[in-house]
Amino acid sequence: MTRTPEEWADFLHTSHEDWSDGLLQEQMIEDMRELLGAIEDLAYQFAYDGRAGTITTGGLSALETAFACLGWDDPHPLPDAMLCEEPGCHERATCGTPTEKGYRTTCSKHAPRRKP
Ligand SMILES: [Zn+2]
Repeated sequence: MTRTPEEWADFLHTSHEDWSDGLLQEQMIEDMRELLGAIEDLAYQFAYDGRAGTITTGGLSALETAFACLGWDDPHPLPDAMLCEEPGCHERATCGTPTEKGYRTTCSKHAPRRKP
């Protein structure tokens, strides 16, 4: 069972008797991991592209809160897997293109072109 953040807040403010229950702590840790994973996914999807392979909050308070929850600096570097495969390019990969040499993940500028 996954508790919502509100349910966790209620639990944390009303019950301290069950803390000796290791299963409850494991469930809470699992829920926190799931919540942080969701926050991370949202930050990667909605944060603004910054310079040289980074994302930034752009001063948007919701993103600032998300970055703070994740312990990220602003700007935050994108993982290599999210960057264009073209050597020397630091743009976010936005295109996936099947080619004769395999699948290429690139920015739009470096996306392989289809043969006419
Ligand atoms: Zn590129």
